Amino acid sequence: ADSLNSLDRFYQEFNNRVQSSKTLLCFSLGQTNKVLWDFWGHTYNNPGCDHAETVALRAIKDFLKQCREEMSRKYELTMYLSFSPCAGCCKRLTAFVRSESAVQVSILVSRLYFPQYRDTRENLRQLVHSGIRLEVMGRKDFEKCHHLFVDYCSNFEEWPELDEESENGRAVLQGILEQHLAVTDTRRCWNQLDLTRA
Ligand SMILES: [Zn+2]
Repeated sequence: ADSLNSLDRFYQEFNNRVQSSKTLLCFSLGQTNKVLWDFWGHTYNNPGCDHAETVALRAIKDFLKQCREEMSRKYELTMYLSFSPCAGCCKRLTAFVRSESAVQVSILVSRLYFPQYRDTRENLRQLVHSGIRLEVMGRKDFEKCHHLFVDYCSNFEEWPELDEESENGRAVLQGILEQHLAVTDTRRCWNQLDLTRA
């Protein structure tokens, strides 16, 4: 596999001010309350074939299969993604947490992938509903990702308008996730109306 230690790639893919045709995913899997990771890596999407999430989940599932006898282990999986998951990948991630109940998943994304699509928004809500933590990356997250996966020694160099773009992304994501609450509230009102009528 190609190394991520070429700094250019990190800045090229994670910069939230510029667009890219690729997705870069960095992940770490570790046991809860342990400092050292058990399994980690990075991957890109496979153009015209698998998305980065599919590639990573396949490797993670294989790893977990080898640890099957250690039933009591609890894991934390953290994914740093240059783009948020598409509708299909949200479904795969949701299926993953349902089948791997010992794994707590956190996803941090630099940019939102086609948030204007209804299907994407609905599947992002399902993803969060399944117990996965989903956040838009801020300065501290970029720093941490850079520190953990790219270069432990050099300092993270921010780009112009990093914070503004993070705030925009967070607001859009929050809007998407709140939409769910609005739908739930409406449903609750309907139930109340039905009860009154009965
Ligand atoms: Zn995808």
